[in-house]
Amino acid sequence: MIGSALRSSIRLRLWVAASLPALMVILALLVGFADRQSKELTRMLTERARATAQQVASSAEFALFAGDTQSLQRLINNIQNADADIKGIAVVPLDGRFRVQTGTMPAEMPSAGVDVLTRMDQDLMVVAPVFASVLDHVDWFADNDSYVAASAGSLTGQVVVVFDLQTLRQRQTDLVQWALALTVLSLFFAAVVSISIAASVTGPVAAISRVVGRIGSGTLHARIDETKAGPLLQLARGINQMADRIAASQENLQLQVAQATDELRKQKEAAEMVARVDALTGVASRRAFTERAELEIQRALRYRQPLCVVMVDLDRFKRVNDTYGHAVGDSVLVAFAQAIMNEVREVDMVGRLGGEEFAILLPGISGEEGFGVAERMRLAVERRELMVGGQPLRFTASFGVAEFDGIELNMAGLLARADSALYNAKHTGRNKVVFADEAIPAFQDSRM
Ligand code: GH3
Ligand code: MG
Ligand code: MG
Repeated sequence: MIGSALRSSIRLRLWVAASLPALMVILALLVGFADRQSKELTRMLTERARATAQQVASSAEFALFAGDTQSLQRLINNIQNADADIKGIAVVPLDGRFRVQTGTMPAEMPSAGVDVLTRMDQDLMVVAPVFASVLDHVDWFADNDSYVAASAGSLTGQVVVVFDLQTLRQRQTDLVQWALALTVLSLFFAAVVSISIAASVTGPVAAISRVVGRIGSGTLHARIDETKAGPLLQLARGINQMADRIAASQENLQLQVAQATDELRKQKEAAEMVARVDALTGVASRRAFTERAELEIQRALRYRQPLCVVMVDLDRFKRVNDTYGHAVGDSVLVAFAQAIMNEVREVDMVGRLGGEEFAILLPGISGEEGFGVAERMRLAVERRELMVGGQPLRFTASFGVAEFDGIELNMAGLLARADSALYNAKHTGRNKVVFADEAIPAFQDSRM
């Protein structure tokens, strides 16, 4: 819609632009040319008429003098026959004795001695005087003044020639018609040229606007067909290059965003990994342990499976730090964690809850079995030896064991019970396992 409106408006303006100056030039030429041609034609015809009249006057001199009307008739007949534009010729003596004429002549003759060119509506009347030949030489073809001067002899009559202006008029009309035809032709050519120029410009303009619109609405791969851009090739090329750049920078941007997103994802995964694994000992973090524990409680509830939790705390660990330094304390923590890890299955989970406090989740293990596992761990820790400055360093830990009872339905409750058992272990001598449930007093103190 927009394309076709644009096209017709450009076509019209081009047509006006192309034809208006041509039209003005042609009209100016037409007026000037027609005027000049008309004057020229009139002048030429007048000349011819005058020459004819003077020729007749010259030839009629003796016949007129002699009153030889027959010769005069022959003469004027011959002259009229020779020229199609002559309408009529009359020879009249001064005394009006007779009148010889041919063709169509007006009834009223101009009065004698008047050298006039009378223009009537359709005719041109020329009057030439006839003189008695008293002069040696009369130059009939000289201009008017000289011949009047030369005819100072006796005037014997006059010749009147009437010329038909029809041919002149016809030629003038033809001239105007030709000029008009030329104008119409030039207007037609201007229209053809403007339409072809408009077509060569509006086609590419419409194509370019379409593509620019598509690029603007996000179709970045849209391109202008440069082979059809015509005179707008440079513009089309520029727009295509611009679109290339936009597409390339957008691609680049997308790539950068993708890379940044990937980087972020990796960092997030690494951070999550860090959050889930204890950096020093390699066991699960408090968060990872708690999450897993909640999951195992749900599972134990659903499948009515036993579940056991063991809380562990290194004995007199402050003393280790104080005696050997924090670095040795860290080594003890690592050795301790390894000793514990050696005693558990794949499905079990060891977590560091904070400082030198650990917890072990034992899915599918009853309190009784858990107590046994804790005891094994206690012995493993006790047996562990760390060489510090060439001297063996030994350490122990206290354990509190609690079995999931299906009453305390969350991890906090189960851990609290294990923790209180651990508290008991600490307060009843350390390096021992205490079971949380008083209903199984036999397992309450591993060293009893
Ligand atoms: P108890 O037998 O009653 O548990 O005595 P304790 O000395 O172990 O007492 P407590 O549990 O209060 O002390 C814990 C100490 O563990 C305090 C702190 O200096 C030390 N500790 C906690 N985390 C770390 C650690 O990551 N590295 C080292 N080297 N020491 C730690
Ligand atoms: Mg502690
Ligand atoms: Mg301790």
